Amino acid sequence: MRALRVLLVALLAGLLPTGCGQAGAFPEGSTMARIKERGVLTVGIKFDQPMFGYKDPSSGRITGFDAEMARLVARDLTGSERNIRFVETVSRERENFIEQGVVDLVIATYSITPVRSERVSFTDPYYIAGQDMLVRVGDTTINQVTDLDGKTVCTATGSTSVDRLRSTVPTAELEIVDAYSICVPALVAGRVDALSTDDTILLGLFAQHPDTLRLVGKPFGREPYGMGLRKQDAAFRGYLNGLIARWLRDGEWDRAYMATIGVSGVTSSSARPSNR
Ligand code: GLU
Repeated sequence: MRALRVLLVALLAGLLPTGCGQAGAFPEGSTMARIKERGVLTVGIKFDQPMFGYKDPSSGRITGFDAEMARLVARDLTGSERNIRFVETVSRERENFIEQGVVDLVIATYSITPVRSERVSFTDPYYIAGQDMLVRVGDTTINQVTDLDGKTVCTATGSTSVDRLRSTVPTAELEIVDAYSICVPALVAGRVDALSTDDTILLGLFAQHPDTLRLVGKPFGREPYGMGLRKQDAAFRGYLNGLIARWLRDGEWDRAYMATIGVSGVTSSSARPSNR
């Protein structure tokens, strides 16, 4: 009898997990309630983009700003940032993985665009990037996007980087691969002249080869990153937008930035979305 009373008190005090069809403060039947009940958030992320989404080869831990955002969502939904399963999601798979329910969310340097918004929903932007170029350190011929005229440029399939290169420098010859990390050895070996995608991704790849490569630093085009989720899940989207706005206010966004991209010394001024 006493044990029963202790159990009851603990339950009422919220000390025990409420995994029996009861989902805390989240509306019944909502995606948030389902994830909370399941106890694990599944997130599609990049595995080869240092500072954003990167699988550390020695520890297996996923690091980077996108990983930090994902952990904050998991913590809010399930009570712990450890209740998360990361699934490698290359650029061209992002819409597919969301539509097929392979992941609950995609947080993977994922730019909000009208075309993608026909298939998936996006949160408000949590990060603002811009497209830039990475070249060999000794190459003085590429200093702005128009200098890519006649050059071989490596980038990834299913990205806005491809589209913008095609419209901005149609005379560049594109080498289109599955992931940006594949471009790096090709660039170092001289098989391509440049790697072009978001400055944030290039910064992380550059940090691995600071003596051989040069980040041009002339961004062209704006890339607002959103979290991608199933279309028409307005409740989940509203919930996530509330979280993003809160992190921008309460310092979590800045902490995540300083722990990842900030380590490089680059400041967050152009990357930080305006507070809502
Ligand atoms: N942010 C751009 C995009 O979503 C390029 C980076 C990427 O492919 O992840 O297409």
